[in-house]
Amino acid sequence: MFISKLKLINFRNYNKLDIILHDKLNIFIGNNAQGKTNILESLYVTGFGKSFRTNKDKELIKMNKDMAYIKAEGKKRYGEISIELRLWNNRNKEIKTNGISLTKLSELLGSINIVIFSPEDLKLIKGGPSERRRFIDREISHVNKKYYYNIMSYNKVLLQRNNLLKNIAYNKKLLKTIDIWNEKLVEYGTEVIFKRIEFIKKLNMLSRLMNRRITEGKENLEIKYLSNIKIDKKYKTQDIYESFKQMLEKKIDNDIKRGFTTVGPHKDDLGIYIDNKDIRIFGSQGQQRTAALSLKLSEIEIIKGEIGEYPILLLDDVMSELDINRQKFLIKSLKNVQTFITITELPELMIPLDKEGSIFKISNGSIVQNN
Ligand code: ATP
Ligand code: MG
Repeated sequence: MFISKLKLINFRNYNKLDIILHDKLNIFIGNNAQGKTNILESLYVTGFGKSFRTNKDKELIKMNKDMAYIKAEGKKRYGEISIELRLWNNRNKEIKTNGISLTKLSELLGSINIVIFSPEDLKLIKGGPSERRRFIDREISHVNKKYYYNIMSYNKVLLQRNNLLKNIAYNKKLLKTIDIWNEKLVEYGTEVIFKRIEFIKKLNMLSRLMNRRITEGKENLEIKYLSNIKIDKKYKTQDIYESFKQMLEKKIDNDIKRGFTTVGPHKDDLGIYIDNKDIRIFGSQGQQRTAALSLKLSEIEIIKGEIGEYPILLLDDVMSELDINRQKFLIKSLKNVQTFITITELPELMIPLDKEGSIFKISNGSIVQNN
């Protein structure tokens, strides 16, 4: 799919914007605080109905105005698509797809599929295990409703088990009731672990390929699911189940002492390696960014596998830490995907443009040059 036209009125620092977009590559270049990310943000809003920077629609409306208007028109595999949003200061937003008003935000999802990579995504590498778990959970939930149900249920049971553990410290009799929670925790937890291992295997293959493309085959990225529960290579659900159950029983005294559940998929992590070295400890800035990017870009292939066409890709501030070769190979490897890039400077070498893309120079909420 691709977006061919974008119109903005009173969105962020734009009074009015009307642009024709290239179906492959669009580069927004300009100094800081001129409105580059604002354009990506407006596109994101057409996909998700809300921003990735704020939950408050009000902030998206130009200061001292009542309404922001966004319209994106494009093409999907099965025909044309147009999405219009009106965001109001003092009432609910209005959304239309192909001229028809939607009653629920959820009806919008899937109209335009968007993948975004922003500096925030570096947390995937640099942040703690919870950042990586959140990434895994979100990615799988996107394409698997059952997983979403299982992880939500797991978290609920975990909360209840933790409350019980705290109470057991004062009232030992309550220990009798823990089996019910153990059983449920192991049941949902096994499903969660199994799916995560499967997903990481797939992601490993895709991100490895992507990383090799961007680094011209120089680096080998590998990701592994690191579980605190002993799981063998075959990862049969029955074995995971037994192993998790035994661990819970073994750790019960420790759990009571600490007042929370110390084993389970809520403690798992993702190991990320380049040439067998842990990238979090040994990776350079550029390597870390390339790896994070490769993981995110694999999402594109996964979505393609699900819906049969490529989503749209937004790359905010991604280029600054990549050397010129990585920038070139990145762009080359995205040739089937409509991509939007923000950048403060455009090194001549980077652009294999020659009609393969459009460059928009942005200054203070307007486009001052377009070629
Ligand atoms: P950088 O290179 O620093 O990332 P950028 O070009 O991506 O910069 P944006 O985030 O797109 O910058 O735009 C920031 C500009 O938009 C700032 O000047 C900010 O004051 C302005 N801005 C943000 N929200 C609003 C709003 N609701 N009304 C008016 N202007 C706004
Ligand atoms: Mg920006």
